[in-house]
Amino acid sequence: MKLPKTKKKYCKYCKKHTEHKISVVKGKERGGLKHGSIQRAKKRGLGTGFGNKGKWGSKPALSKFKMTGAKISKKTNLKFTCSKCKKSTLQKKGFRAKKTLFE
Ligand SMILES: [Zn+2]
Repeated sequence: MKLPKTKKKYCKYCKKHTEHKISVVKGKERGGLKHGSIQRAKKRGLGTGFGNKGKWGSKPALSKFKMTGAKISKKTNLKFTCSKCKKSTLQKKGFRAKKTLFE
């Protein structure tokens, strides 16, 4: 679906309508556990018995991320950044689209 790059929208920080830049929110990369959080995860696993029972690894098992079902579209997750105060808000409700393109 084609979307405009900018849109006039109400900004709750400026309390008036301003130009907003639209962008897609991207999720975090896999293996995001870094040194500090790995240590914390290990400590959490120390409670009972040996090891951490396979929990709190850096990457989840691939099998858990298998796509099932018939859906080929995904809901959009858009971010609106105010051009005046540079603060951003997320869209309230996503809509289904195969692709999100900006004109
Ligand atoms: Zn603003």
